[in-house]
Amino acid sequence: MNNYFVILAAGKSKRFNGKIAKQFFIYKNKEIIEHSVEKALNSKLFKKIVIVSNNLKYFRKKKYPKSITIIKGGKERSDSSLKALNYLKKYKPNNVFIHDAARPNFSNKLLENIVINLKKNRAVVPVVNSTDSIKYKIKNQIFNLNRDHSLLTQTPQAFRFKDLYNLAIKEKNKVNDEATLLLDQNYKIKFIKGENQNYKITYLEDIKFPTTYYGIGFDIHKLEKNKKLYLGGIKIPFHSGLKGHSDGDVILHAIIDSILGATKKKDIGTYFPNTKKYKNIRSPKMLKLILVSLEKFDLTINNLDINLICEQPRVSKYRDKIIKSISKLMNLNKNLINLKGKTVEKLGLIGKEKAIACEVIISITKYD
Ligand code: ZN
Repeated sequence: MNNYFVILAAGKSKRFNGKIAKQFFIYKNKEIIEHSVEKALNSKLFKKIVIVSNNLKYFRKKKYPKSITIIKGGKERSDSSLKALNYLKKYKPNNVFIHDAARPNFSNKLLENIVINLKKNRAVVPVVNSTDSIKYKIKNQIFNLNRDHSLLTQTPQAFRFKDLYNLAIKEKNKVNDEATLLLDQNYKIKFIKGENQNYKITYLEDIKFPTTYYGIGFDIHKLEKNKKLYLGGIKIPFHSGLKGHSDGDVILHAIIDSILGATKKKDIGTYFPNTKKYKNIRSPKMLKLILVSLEKFDLTINNLDINLICEQPRVSKYRDKIIKSISKLMNLNKNLINLKGKTVEKLGLIGKEKAIACEVIISITKYD
């Protein structure tokens, strides 16, 4: 893997109506650019991420890992892109991805898909069909363009570094994207299916209206001797484990139900009935399947609050570990997760250490 990711964020956002450059506008709980930075970083597909920006002051405050470098941008998009390529040359990259910071909504799946296609192709560019009718003008005549034959290019676009570098240093025109550069030189590009959600934010109006929803989840499982105890996706040393069709992880089950609640998608039993197929399924897998099924919706989790109800084990002892595990499983910042321990004064089944229960509340913002 010798892939490098370039994020172009030097634009002045002339068409954006906000008071600040759009890449620093708060969108879904963070600056627009941070979505691309986090996605590239979390994908673990890149050796280095290069951010090209003219607002170096903003980045000075950021505590990024070493694999992220900030360089100063140029006047036009193509100048910034060339600056990044010049900077990267010394690393001898195999492939380089060029991405516009104004597209914060691409999925990890798209990145993976590009990587797969790069194995057999020298250039990979995601495209979508236009939903608007398109006309084009030559001199004073206007022609219809067949919508089905017109392709709108998106980013990230990926190339063999050498190809792109050699073309970019020679190019005199200010091209709008790297695909243009290659097409002008009759280079072959593999066009793959892009994502409608991966639209470019150009105008303030492009930012969709958010609505916040809440979901509640509850679960309880009996404890049983000689079983492993799983809570929040990790194994906890204990005299008993939770009995169930799956591994009985009450925390993850309650989280799943809270997500399904907030998104109005029924309950955990609908997706994981007590059938042979799901016998002994691990709960992280269940959570992952639910999260993947929601990827096509434009959702952001704002926070997660968890009550673990049990006499033993002590939550305080495992709190950090459990939060870390949930954060990893859900790709959610640790600071958005809270875990409380609640004992029940030795009352009932839970008090006698014969069961563990959990309740969760989640807040999710949907953009539509
Ligand atoms: Zn359960």
